[in-house]
Amino acid sequence: MRDEIEKVNSETIQKRDDVILGESHDGHRVLHHPQSRQYFRLGLREAKFYDSLVDAATKNSLYELHKGEFSPEEIDAITDWFRQQGLLAGGDIIETKEEKRSFFGNILQFLLRPDSFRFTIWDPNATLDYFRKSINLMFSPAAIALYIFIFISPVLLLFARPDLGASAIRDFTPLNFQIVLVAYIAILIINAFHELAHAMVCKAFGGNVHKIGLLFLYFSPVVYSDVSDSWRFTSRSQKIAVASAGIAFQLILTSIGLCLWLITSNAIIAYVVFANTMLALINLFPFIKLDGYWIVAHILNEPNLMSKSRELVLGKIRDLVVNHRIQTPDNERSAVLAFGMVSSVVVPAFWMLGLYGLYYRLSQISPLVAMIVVSAFSIGLLYRVYLAARVEVSKISGYRSS
Ligand SMILES: [Zn+2]
Repeated sequence: MRDEIEKVNSETIQKRDDVILGESHDGHRVLHHPQSRQYFRLGLREAKFYDSLVDAATKNSLYELHKGEFSPEEIDAITDWFRQQGLLAGGDIIETKEEKRSFFGNILQFLLRPDSFRFTIWDPNATLDYFRKSINLMFSPAAIALYIFIFISPVLLLFARPDLGASAIRDFTPLNFQIVLVAYIAILIINAFHELAHAMVCKAFGGNVHKIGLLFLYFSPVVYSDVSDSWRFTSRSQKIAVASAGIAFQLILTSIGLCLWLITSNAIIAYVVFANTMLALINLFPFIKLDGYWIVAHILNEPNLMSKSRELVLGKIRDLVVNHRIQTPDNERSAVLAFGMVSSVVVPAFWMLGLYGLYYRLSQISPLVAMIVVSAFSIGLLYRVYLAARVEVSKISGYRSS
């Protein structure tokens, strides 16, 4: 036992040099772990302590160094937590898991967590830096005024020429293969620009964007742009602007499209406008990790809203099981709790919808292949539910015995 204590005390403690510590804001600082793409909110005291771990130190030397400021127990608890979260140099569990995985390990990981896989297509950062001056111009007050004018222009046009609306509706043609094809290609291109809009707004406020790529959201491929650097911004409205940039771009495009449709009476434009607007609105749905989710996360100032809110809901269930009562939360937490309650219904529903969609698409090729693939993913999902349930049961029995 004595040896063990000695060993723990002599273990070196040093911060990771790639972890980014944001500026102080609202009595906390946001810490960004780029390897695991996680964010942590630290109190100013703890953040200062973390920031001071530049050189490798032992616990004993830290006890000495922070005497009067932190108790040894506090230092133990904080450094243990840093280690568990993979925030210390060396012995980093998260990093080795990500990097050293075999081929079969990768397949297994994909079956277990298809949602955590990200394929990077392009690192736009250097290009964005190159066009930085033009990007800044695009977000000048004059440019913003222009966007607002474009946004309301279909209404102005209809006021000036009401006859255009009547003729556009008269010339409407039903959907055919050509229209579907053109609309599909247009939506793909619009999607690429949607991601670029996120990246450009992030760059305009001084953030870096190193990844634009593909991820799988409930088994459907989705283009994403990694604007997580915006969590370092101290202004909440800047963060919200980055998260809403893609949708704002699409809505401006809707206005331009409506004007073009009114002027040309071309039905293809009307279909593209409709598809574009619907996709933008779906993107606002906050309970799955689309743009709407990140907007709400910024409004509630909660970088890990999904896991935090789920933990709150589970905490209430534990409370009910162990103490047979639920404590009422304070205001800000009750918003997070409400989010968690809705998302714990919505998220499983989306997994099931996603599995069904995957089965439907694959069964067009081969029902057998569809059956095998969907079964494999289902087993993976059930295994995750089992692991989570096991942790919960052990927590509840832990409370009971203590
Ligand atoms: Zn987006």
